[in-house]
Order: sequence, then C-alpha cells, then structure tokens
Amino acid sequence: MNPEEHRALREQLGAYALGQLTPAEVTAVRAHLDGCPECRAELAAIAPLAEPLRLVDADRVSAEPAAPPAALEASILAAIGSEPRRRRPIGRWLVAAAAVVVVGAGGVGIGYGLAPKPPEIPLEPVAVAVADPAVHSTADVVPHTWGMEIKLTATGFASGRTYRVVVVTADGRTAPAGEFIGTGNREMLCNLNSSVLRPDATAFRVLDDRGRNVATAEL
Ligand SMILES: [Zn+2]
Repeated sequence: MNPEEHRALREQLGAYALGQLTPAEVTAVRAHLDGCPECRAELAAIAPLAEPLRLVDADRVSAEPAAPPAALEASILAAIGSEPRRRRPIGRWLVAAAAVVVVGAGGVGIGYGLAPKPPEIPLEPVAVAVADPAVHSTADVVPHTWGMEIKLTATGFASGRTYRVVVVTADGRTAPAGEFIGTGNREMLCNLNSSVLRPDATAFRVLDDRGRNVATAEL
C-alpha cells in the first residue's frame, strides 16, 4: 500500500460517497478500496452521512440564507489542507468537503445541518467474489443480537433485474437476507438483514432472478 495514494484517496472518499467524482477518479478510488480495508471502513462510516446529503440540492446550498459563511468554507478547506483539484461550483465542493471533515473531526463544531455522527458500529469488511467481471462489489458485515446485517456496495448488477441475497449457515442451511434491484453503472449501497447470527454464518451469496450464484462472500 502506497501511503501517499492512501492519503490522497482517503480525502476523496466523501466526494466519492456523494457521487461527485469523475469516472476516472471513481475507478482510482475503487481500485484502492479493493486493497485497503481501512478506506473501506471509512467509506462505510461516511455512507450514512452521504445519504441525507445526496438529498440536498447542492447547487442551492451556497445561494440560500442557511449557506455556511465564507470563514467556515475557508476553515474546511484549511482542515483538508488542499484546494479543490478542479473548479467545481463551491456549493458542491463544500458539501463533499463537509462530509469528509465531519467524519475526520468526529463531528465536532462544524456539523451544521448535517445528520449527527452515527454510533460506532463494528463493521467487518468481507471480500466479495463475483462471477461477472463487470460487477464490482465490497461488503461489510455487522453482527446484531437479532441476526446480522450485510452492507453491500456494488456497481454492475444488471439494471432493473432482481437479485436475492442468502446467508449460508455452518450446517448448510440458507436463510433469506432480502432482495435488491441492480443499478447498472450507478453505485448502490444496500443494507440486507438476515436472522442468522454472525457466528453461525459461513457465507452469503447473491443469486440472480434465475437462481444462479453471481457473487459470494466467505465469512
Ligand atoms: Zn486507503
């Protein structure tokens, strides 16, 4: 792992989660995520913040009275230690930057209008093996008292097709963990729940609408 690359790409995770990167940047971030559990965990922590932020009309943020003051903008840029690499409307950059800074600073002081930092959850990054090279997927597993949760991030599942996720237990049983619809090239972040307790689970599988196994994660 190149520490320079790790630092540079880590700064982009907020923008990545918000869908603000160019396709080339997205490819670079994904390639890095494949080999960096630390960044995958960070992305998983950012994702819940990014969801409500996606709903904000970023272009209007800077035009409205609730817009952050210029000093805040400067402090966010200073905290990140870099100027935006490219000219973007400042509202967009600021929203992306705020997500990064809120996570990096533990949500202290500058979380104006943002969702509160979610409670720490024990994410377990798992590798997802896919049958189709067009599919890129990573996942985190979260143990719960009622079962387990799978946080599945992916692109390349066929747009509009339904996929089913099952958890495989040590005694060979499979239990349903829910369904999702493929989003093609658009990234999806899907939370799937299963009644199987984490210690009893040995794998999860993604099945297509014909029941074919298209992705597997050994746990
Ligand atoms: Zn990294």
